[in-house]
Amino acid sequence: MRLLLINPKFPESFWSFKWANTRILPNSRTGNPPLGLATLAALTPAHWDITIVDENVTSIPLEPAADVIGICGMAVQFERQKELITYYRSLGYFVVVGGSLVSLCPENYTDLADCVVAGEAEYIWPAFCKDFEAGHPQPFYQETGLVDLAASPVPRYDLLDIHQYRSMSMQFSRGCPFRCDFCDIIVMFGRKPRSKTLFQIGRELDRLRTLGIDSIFFVDDNLIGNTKAAKKLLQFLVDYQRRHHYTFSFGTEASINMAYDAELLALLRQANFGWVFIGIESPDESSLRETKKLQNLRQDLLTSLRAIYAQGIDIYGGFIVGFDHDTPAIFKKQFQFIVNSGIQMAMVGLLTAPPKTPLYQRLEQEGRLIPDVQHGDNTSLHTNVIPKRMTMDELIQGYRWLYENLVKDRFIARRIRSKLRFLARPDYSDKVAINGRMKTILNFLTYGIAPGGFPRLFHFLTTWPVLKPKLIPLVIQDWILGLSMRHFVEAHFKVSPRQAQNRLEKYQRQIGSIFKQYIDQRKLEISFNQIRNRAADLSFSVTGFLDRAFFKNAEKHLVKVLRKTSSSITLQFQVIQTNRIPQIKRLLNKLAKYGDRITISVDKTLLPYLEIDSSVFNLKLI
Ligand code: SF4
Repeated sequence: MRLLLINPKFPESFWSFKWANTRILPNSRTGNPPLGLATLAALTPAHWDITIVDENVTSIPLEPAADVIGICGMAVQFERQKELITYYRSLGYFVVVGGSLVSLCPENYTDLADCVVAGEAEYIWPAFCKDFEAGHPQPFYQETGLVDLAASPVPRYDLLDIHQYRSMSMQFSRGCPFRCDFCDIIVMFGRKPRSKTLFQIGRELDRLRTLGIDSIFFVDDNLIGNTKAAKKLLQFLVDYQRRHHYTFSFGTEASINMAYDAELLALLRQANFGWVFIGIESPDESSLRETKKLQNLRQDLLTSLRAIYAQGIDIYGGFIVGFDHDTPAIFKKQFQFIVNSGIQMAMVGLLTAPPKTPLYQRLEQEGRLIPDVQHGDNTSLHTNVIPKRMTMDELIQGYRWLYENLVKDRFIARRIRSKLRFLARPDYSDKVAINGRMKTILNFLTYGIAPGGFPRLFHFLTTWPVLKPKLIPLVIQDWILGLSMRHFVEAHFKVSPRQAQNRLEKYQRQIGSIFKQYIDQRKLEISFNQIRNRAADLSFSVTGFLDRAFFKNAEKHLVKVLRKTSSSITLQFQVIQTNRIPQIKRLLNKLAKYGDRITISVDKTLLPYLEIDSSVFNLKLI
């Protein structure tokens, strides 16, 4: 049996840190690998031949040699997941789907795939494999109970292209004891944390060590959900690190109550946890109470964060605006808090209600849900929640204001200085090879600091940790994060959709007159579509044979549009002249830098001629 497992491409968001990954950090294309697929591969019968394709780093195969194709996906990947399912099924492949959105909303996939696997995979995936091999797979497998994680195997890390990722992922536990009302984790995994054994963790660490990995992200929803089990894990990690000369640096997600437990904090430090992501959500007490994030109310938030900094552990923070108690005053309050907290990796999102959560149920009863708005990326400029104490327009404008200010040079610098006041020196330095580090610094100075001129250099120098030289890598990292977010904000938030549309209309008119002869000859159609709350999309449809001069001009003008607007471009090829293929490829090469804003739509019979890399461009499969 030949099994192909695919992780669909993510749309660009804050989380992709595209500028940092493509411009600054050498040898890295994305953050984390698809751990779920590597686990699924380990649950598959040993005699099956398995390939994993992560479309975020590799192009999907157009006609793979596979007997069954498995496609996973989170809510944010749903559109791409659907496209891939439809494409492969249209070619006659048997397609099975799974992943977190399938687990939460299996009904979304009715009639979409050949088989749906919903819920934790440890028991039901082997059942599917057995049935498939016997020739009678069921259309639906659902895990209705909770899996004992002792049954979870060591993920097949060997099937991942590990050098494409900044760190590898591991999981210790599932579930979280808290009851934040917007959280779908507790809907899927329950409120009683379950964990792997320390023996399992040891085996996974051994495997990663032999693969030469030095950075690990514990992807647990809340690593300290069961504090007792977490302490045992951390003590185990401390011993492991001592035995293996501190091979790894770790990061994880955890709740803020870690700050109330000195023993836990000390263990995190000794195990070499360099950072932790915490759902802070809001500095507003009534909003925290409203959302039932009561664990954030036990102590002043800044005091808690500083207790974590005091252990040399950096903090990434999740924030939300748009709670029922939030008025337009919340944006300034969040801004002040984030600046004072020193958190550079501040992921602020609009309140969004994932299906089946208590929040969703409440808003449904109140008639305050907007249908047809996809949840999943809460850092985009839309939400399925109708705000209560401000208009949607005020919410979007306030959100944009917040980010536009946070990513200004002086506030990137202010946050670093706020952090440096409280962040202790870490015990161990990271293991990035010296030549990798030099390259990063050179790229950072050339593409990060230099374009900002003297003012940026000045702000950068105000953050130099003269008395704590061990923190220099962290300062540079924070600048890279801040500037990467700035690039995203400039591309997606800074220009209002109305301004973007006006600009694009201007270019459309210019381009229309430049390519008039082709339009008149009905070889080319140009149009544009406004996308909700986002910049417009300029669409080129090639309907006839075009000459060499067209491609030369197109190269110049399309790059100009991409450089000067935040719009996306769709290139639709209804016909392809074989003698123009070199020109088309050259055009695509020039546009690759903006690939995430370019959708290429070609009939599947023509696709093999163009060899389009779907990890670079948005490849529409029709
Ligand atoms: S602490 Fe995090 S994982 Fe736990 S319920 Fe709240 S949002 Fe969900």
